[in-house]
Amino acid sequence: MPLPDDLDPATLAAHGGGATDTASAGIVPPIQPATTFLRDPKYDLVNPANIYSRDDSEALRAVETLLARLERGAAALAFPSGMAATAAVFRSLPNGARIVLQSGIYYGTSKFAREFCARRGLALLEVDASDPQALQAACAAHDPDLVFVETPSNPWLKTVDIRRAAETAHGVGARLVVDSTACTPVLTQPLSLGADIVMHSATKGINGHSDVLAGALVTRDPDHAQWQTIATDRHDAGAILGPFEAWLLLRGMRTLPLRMERMSATALELAQRLATDTRVAEVFYPGLPSHRGHDVAVAQMRGGFGGLLSFLVRGTRQDALDVIGRLQLIQRATSLGGVESLVEHRQSIEPDSGIPETLVRLSVGIEAPEDLWRDLDQALG
Ligand SMILES: *Cc1c(COP(=O)(O)O)cnc(C)c1O
Repeated sequence: MPLPDDLDPATLAAHGGGATDTASAGIVPPIQPATTFLRDPKYDLVNPANIYSRDDSEALRAVETLLARLERGAAALAFPSGMAATAAVFRSLPNGARIVLQSGIYYGTSKFAREFCARRGLALLEVDASDPQALQAACAAHDPDLVFVETPSNPWLKTVDIRRAAETAHGVGARLVVDSTACTPVLTQPLSLGADIVMHSATKGINGHSDVLAGALVTRDPDHAQWQTIATDRHDAGAILGPFEAWLLLRGMRTLPLRMERMSATALELAQRLATDTRVAEVFYPGLPSHRGHDVAVAQMRGGFGGLLSFLVRGTRQDALDVIGRLQLIQRATSLGGVESLVEHRQSIEPDSGIPETLVRLSVGIEAPEDLWRDLDQALG
């Protein structure tokens, strides 16, 4: 039964976007692993929506419908990873295309973009897009077809003013793509602010349980030629999310708004405590009034500032590693957006990106805030 149009995202998500099982009357959808679907004796498809699972599947359609509704978009495409979604955007660009990419973002995106553009002869310019003047100047000088930003960025938590970035991009005839992974569709809806395509690593907050690798693109305008190219490329090249992953994602998303609310509230609490702690040199969190991008974050984020925060430990690289090593509850692992808190020493992972040696990145989960604070407190020594 389709859900009413005017529901709050929390309600939509809790109902899995309305996906049920009409065959068994189960209140959750089934997992259908079939790769191929029957034709009748007249050779008509028994269910015209289903031919072969590289094209599409029921669980995939359910996830994409829910993602599009939560992002206030018109269509979504799910991919087997966030990077597959980003790669799909880059692959849709014509030969000779020009790209402005935000600097200091998710390392995998920067690395992929540099290598892809070099190989394909595309002109790539990286700029600190959290500075609107710098973005404007880069767009004026480079005349891009595509502007790609990430907000809040990883691991600096820099915020990009999406509305201004969209005006700037559109002013030079470029399309704006926003990696909104840290926000999930709950905290910001970049399409409503003028972005043309939203990208997500659904591996992170959208799934939220560190057990599915997935990505998504969402658009307002599915008839646009670039979106059509992306959709055709996914279909023909086969970068599609499998039915088990799609099913798990839909299940994870039932609690997405609740998780984001809790993670954001706890992250703010921890950021505030760290910000007044003499053992900490600096805290990067968009929810803190002292943060450079706080005003932009307040203007474009709703219901919280996300679960990602970074801070600088006083002392040396070894001091930061010692703090991380003493953590007992917060687990040492890459990734973010899961129900369990994770810690990372980003400089060890990307030594050449100018990330401070003393930077500790936390992905705050849904644990009791006091337990997390006690762990941080003892680890800071
Ligand atoms: C993890 C991540 C990606 C890449 O997503 P995968 O699902 O790991 O491929 C892209 N952007 C951001 C901001 C991320 O955190």
